[in-house]
Amino acid sequence: MAKLTKTQIIHCRTALEQIKDQLQDRIEQSGQSTEVVNLDQALIGRISRADAIQQQNVAISTRNSATIRLKKVQFAINTIDTNSYGYCKRCDETIGYPRLEAQPEANLCINCQDKADH
Ligand SMILES: [Zn+2]
Repeated sequence: MAKLTKTQIIHCRTALEQIKDQLQDRIEQSGQSTEVVNLDQALIGRISRADAIQQQNVAISTRNSATIRLKKVQFAINTIDTNSYGYCKRCDETIGYPRLEAQPEANLCINCQDKADH
């Protein structure tokens, strides 16, 4: 894969900053919804409580996956700052722009990601 151009890196950085903002919003919102559910639990019956717990679980898992992705995004931004962005952390090959354009926080090349998935 070709090395990234400056323009491509700037494009990825902009995308990463946007994803970071979205994830931070999502984490904040899911935090609020777990608080709301906790308040409601004292006031509602058993069936609604099951629903509330379900909703709370969804909010928690949304927050957990958003937190994990946010860490990857933050890490990718750091690697841009240290000029090591776009390299596979496993084999050190360039990841390639088409893949980074689709998923700018990717830190494995397609080959290594493929192996990691199996
Ligand atoms: Zn690799």
